[in-house]
Amino acid sequence: MIGGSATELRRRNRDLVLRAIASESSVSRSLIARQTGLTGAAISRITRELIDARLVKEGDSIETKGQVGRRNICLELDDRGAFILAIALTANVKSVAIANSRGDIIAERVLEELAQEDPDLVIAEICKAAKALIASTPFDHTRLVGCGVSVAGVTDPETGMLIVSEPLGWSNVPLGDAFLQALGLPVRIERRPVALLTAEMWRGAARGLNNVVLINNGLWLGGCVVADGRMLEGPSNTVGQIAHLSVGGNTTPCACGRRGCLDATASGISIVEALQSVTIPGAGPGEDRGSRLRSLARYRSTDLPEVQDAFRQAGRNMGHAVDGMFALLDPELVLLAGETSRHPAFLEGVRDTLGALRPGEDDWPVRVSEIRSDQSAVWIGLDAFVFSHTLNIEQLMAA
Ligand SMILES: [Zn+2]
Repeated sequence: MIGGSATELRRRNRDLVLRAIASESSVSRSLIARQTGLTGAAISRITRELIDARLVKEGDSIETKGQVGRRNICLELDDRGAFILAIALTANVKSVAIANSRGDIIAERVLEELAQEDPDLVIAEICKAAKALIASTPFDHTRLVGCGVSVAGVTDPETGMLIVSEPLGWSNVPLGDAFLQALGLPVRIERRPVALLTAEMWRGAARGLNNVVLINNGLWLGGCVVADGRMLEGPSNTVGQIAHLSVGGNTTPCACGRRGCLDATASGISIVEALQSVTIPGAGPGEDRGSRLRSLARYRSTDLPEVQDAFRQAGRNMGHAVDGMFALLDPELVLLAGETSRHPAFLEGVRDTLGALRPGEDDWPVRVSEIRSDQSAVWIGLDAFVFSHTLNIEQLMAA
């Protein structure tokens, strides 16, 4: 058979149906038929299996148009069906969480004050916290099907390798293998922008869209691109990593040796450095750069205009990149994620530049993303192991 065995085809059809149900809060069998192109008989058989495996349950009924008296029972995800472990690993956030198939986090532990110089030590601490969290959380442990990891750095999702992470100061760390061996779960590692956009596609502002750019701006910059419904990877899984895209005419030196890069003119680090001498009321002395960025980004008073100005100027510099994304990729939406992007003056700055460069237009599909790193890891895990043809449904039916 072309494209694999009959079993594989069944798995793929089942995944199509499960994804159709997961992408809505409640959905009718006839809508699933329209979305998947499968026959009514196939959908009845598959939904029966999904219900038996407790992945899906019957919910509200709706009256079908033109068929007076006929009730159509909608399907929705059953939050007891499958669970995933979610690990967020960035300079600022190291956390483990357990989530159900709806993406709700049912238990979480944030590892505060964890020194990150030694990758082995950090991995060991995360695994220890994960095991303790699993043991202390009441849910059907046989339904924990995988682990999603959202990490700040460049990854190879196929091998689970963290190739390099400037924020963590790590390179060539076999993260996937380390978590697999310690936790005994299949692991999917993704760089954080990809994880954030995956979450946005499933449950956020990018739901239902096929062409979206996400620019993540915490301390460091990252980004990724979905085009025609597919996350672009490129030869080294770095499509959309825009840190060293230059802002025309800007001559600020960048650590990479060039001038005017976004990293030097629009990133959280560039703002922290520009505001070194500013004292934020209530902020602790001797903050590390991550805490310092948080204090600055969450300071909304106009009492220190230099803070507003720094975020606005960084936003103006970023506006050049956003303009370039519109020109090059024609996205339906540009999402600005990360702590730096959440300061309102940053978005105003982006709009200042778009207004100057595109005087005939007055609105652009640019939004700030509210997805957090822990949620992004949840959706990487769900996308890889629950809404996936690799899901072992027989095991869940037997559970
Ligand atoms: Zn640079």
